[in-house]
Amino acid sequence: MSDIIHLLPDNVANQIAAGEVIQRPASCLKELVENALDAGANNIRILVKDGGRTLLQVIDNGKGMSPTDARMAFERHATSKISQAADLFQLRTMGFRGEALASICAVAHVEVNTRRPEDEVGTHLEIAGSKVITQDVTQCPVGTNIRVKNLFYNVPARRKFLKTDQTEMRNILTEYHRIVLVNPQVQFTLVNNDEIISELPSSSTKQRIEAIFGHTSKPFTAQVVDIQANTELVNIYGFIGKPEMATKNSQQFFFVNGRYMRHPYFHKAITTAYSGLLSPDHNPSYFIYFDIQPDAIDVNIHPTKTEIKFADEQAIFQILLAAVREALGKFNITPSLDFTSETHIEIPQISPQATPIAMPRLQVNPAYNPFKQSAPHKTQTQHWEKLYSQPIADTPASSEEHLLFHFPAIDQSIPIMQWQSKYIIVPSSQGLMMVHPHRAHMAILYKEMLALLSQHKGVSQQLLFPEVIELSPEDLHTLQALQDDLSSIGFGLDQLSPNAYTITSIPMQLGQTNPCETLLQVIHQVQDTGSTATQQWHEAMALALADKMAIPMGKALSDAEMHDLLTRLHLNHPAQYLSNGQTIFIILTPDEIQRRF
Ligand code: ADP
Ligand code: MG
Repeated sequence: MSDIIHLLPDNVANQIAAGEVIQRPASCLKELVENALDAGANNIRILVKDGGRTLLQVIDNGKGMSPTDARMAFERHATSKISQAADLFQLRTMGFRGEALASICAVAHVEVNTRRPEDEVGTHLEIAGSKVITQDVTQCPVGTNIRVKNLFYNVPARRKFLKTDQTEMRNILTEYHRIVLVNPQVQFTLVNNDEIISELPSSSTKQRIEAIFGHTSKPFTAQVVDIQANTELVNIYGFIGKPEMATKNSQQFFFVNGRYMRHPYFHKAITTAYSGLLSPDHNPSYFIYFDIQPDAIDVNIHPTKTEIKFADEQAIFQILLAAVREALGKFNITPSLDFTSETHIEIPQISPQATPIAMPRLQVNPAYNPFKQSAPHKTQTQHWEKLYSQPIADTPASSEEHLLFHFPAIDQSIPIMQWQSKYIIVPSSQGLMMVHPHRAHMAILYKEMLALLSQHKGVSQQLLFPEVIELSPEDLHTLQALQDDLSSIGFGLDQLSPNAYTITSIPMQLGQTNPCETLLQVIHQVQDTGSTATQQWHEAMALALADKMAIPMGKALSDAEMHDLLTRLHLNHPAQYLSNGQTIFIILTPDEIQRRF
């Protein structure tokens, strides 16, 4: 028998890699602009046509490339940014994988003009489908001018997956904001279909935020408070919105070492600091910048992922919480303020090995409820400063101490009870715990579903009466994109008509839940991620399914059921929050109980 394994040709390998790295015009643009920043440019012009489908062009005044480098840049794993594994731990550049340009030129027509300051003439290069079409000498300014035309011209499936031009442009703007907000010293211009839609001069961070999110009616400076914390472990600076600025859709940005990131855990630190200051459906705005030693964060950052892992998240959580608290308190300069030295928050210098910082305590008056008046939101928060002169109650100020609690093992002999057919009340050595049974169950199921999605091990139950689901064009798109994942966990789907499917089977674990509703919830949750990254899709799917499958709130549970749930919670999901930030359990510590008496 002859051998059947062979290496993939480069253009095929690159096209596969492009599927991961270049998912849509916005991700392509991000890579191009990051390259310009890595090249030291302080003036970057971006031109977009037709939502990036027809043209994405980035013109920078960075250090340019030599003729050889320009050619090399489009090879897979070609990078000037690292040369050995150890460099990964000292990373200060945005790129390092050497994948982006190789991926882009596999799925688009690319044209580059580039010149180094020391060269008389520049290089002109044209590449399509990973093949160099032209390379010659050209007259051009110092820097790099790269044009990506007809993205996905040779990948119809990807092209079909693109949304309307407006939606793609919105994604581009989102990426643009994430970049310009953390590079305020760089001048940016964004042109969409020949119209300048953003012109940002070199400025301070605050001016940059103002230029993007400021309103003429109310100066941005009047709406935010500075935050600052310098410790051995991390430097944090930025701005947080005054509570009255909070809306349902606030601007929330974290950046680390010049890179945008999402961080649900640090987000929790901020919402904890604001607790009692906002209506439940309002969110604080924040623009927070972390500077940290590169080796203290996970270097293996996937280009499409925005979550970043820190070596010492718990300590940073505490520092961030203290800094936000302090900023909110400092801002309050009304005479009624009683933010005396006793409650003033010192941010201790800590080394990475140090034990978590004990948090300062605020006096708590359990009877005080900042939202007890039924007045509209504005009047509730207009005088929010006063909240500092009154004890904050709704969420006890010290609740964040327990953020780091892991759910303990509960001995079978310990008596537990369910209160109002809802919360499970459990005494434990750490304190008195209250568990939200629906979310506890969700946490367990979420992990199970994620495992099924990655291992393709779902088991189906056939529906006795298959159900028909009709879908809007957008939902249809998403369903089709998810079809492999859905079938891997046990959904059986047959296309009935252009916009309808028959559901023939559902995952075993779904039991009696309504198949159409469940499927729609999965589809919508995935759409809400606004991402096309598989991992984010899986997380959204797992969360939607877990929500549908978990025991409903208000269901009376037997002792055995409660013990079983708590044991599984202890074993499977010790953290206190769901991935969407919802609290699974709370603990009243002996200290806290004593304080309340
Ligand atoms: P990475 O950024 O991970 O190194 P890329 O594929 O994005 O990989 O780029 C490959 C290389 O091409 C970079 O390491 C850099 O040397 C060079 N390069 C890309 N874009 C530019 C640019 N705008 N200016 C100067 N050099 C660039
Ligand atoms: Mg790059």
